[in-house]
Amino acid sequence: MSNPYLSIVIPIFNEEENIPVLWERLSRMLQESFATPERGWEVVFTDDGSRDRSLEMLKAIAAEEPRVSVVEFNRNYGQHSAIFGAFSIVAGEIIVTLDADLQNPPEEIPKLVAKMEEGFDVVGGWRQGRMDNDSLFRTLPSKIVNAVTRKTTGVKLNDYGCMLRAYRREIVDAMLQCKERSSFIPALANSFAKRIAEVPVGHAERAAGESKYGLWKLINLQFDLLTSFSLLPLQMLSVIGVLIAILGFVLFLGLVAYRFLHPEGTAQGVFTLFAILFFFVGCQFVAFGLLGEYIGRIYQEVRDRPRFVVKRIHKQL
Ligand code: UDP
Ligand code: MG
Repeated sequence: MSNPYLSIVIPIFNEEENIPVLWERLSRMLQESFATPERGWEVVFTDDGSRDRSLEMLKAIAAEEPRVSVVEFNRNYGQHSAIFGAFSIVAGEIIVTLDADLQNPPEEIPKLVAKMEEGFDVVGGWRQGRMDNDSLFRTLPSKIVNAVTRKTTGVKLNDYGCMLRAYRREIVDAMLQCKERSSFIPALANSFAKRIAEVPVGHAERAAGESKYGLWKLINLQFDLLTSFSLLPLQMLSVIGVLIAILGFVLFLGLVAYRFLHPEGTAQGVFTLFAILFFFVGCQFVAFGLLGEYIGRIYQEVRDRPRFVVKRIHKQL
């Protein structure tokens, strides 16, 4: 079998309710739009340690359809690692990633591919009508993630969080060479791409099951983004430190002057000092926290543990 033109990558973590409809819609789209031999396709699922029947269902699909493979992880490593696991075996010219919960309609893939054919390296989906479908609890953190990512990575995209994205082969190869453990794929890809585009895509409610991202996973993701793509937080620390030092000095001069002008007024001074002290202590904790975050990450990199362990790859020979 010659190399496919299009590879579709889907991470799966406990998605048994969504797999049948997903596969139905995806395969219909592929039959319709990628039927010719020179535009062949493959689908790579990663089973990210699912505890439900997802793996069996995927294996059944792979047993029936030779163009489907399943990378089985030995446990749960997270969405981005799952995508990397699939990246390590994809063979296509254009690689499209997609969520399994049908929030990204598979029918939008031809649109992304068409945009890629105009010569772009990366094409991202830009979710339309998101506010109506997702709760504020889920969209507000994403808005913050988007804004901070725009600032720290310097690439102006409207939607970083959308995982319906297309990448050129070279970009995926470059990402595979990155040894760092925590990488947010859309931002990483952009750091290797020259021509980046966005196309508006539909966005639906999660078809079944719950979001696998709790608040804690989102906070983690934000720290990943902040520390893996820029040194800005560290630089901000120094700037804030200098500002506080100047402020403290001015305040000190002010207090000395106050003492000379009003020798009798002492009582409130204690409270002012407390206020100032708390402020400084707070700043220090933030600073330590940030330093700790970087050091923790360095420690993780130094240990150089594998990002994931593939147990088996299920594919027809
Ligand atoms: N996912 C995964 N491993 C995880 C968490 C999620 O492979 O640890 C997959 C999940 O099955 C889905 C995609 O990543 O296909 C996006 O997850 P989800 O829909 O929960 O995220 P959200 O849409 O809330 O951002
Ligand atoms: Mg989802």
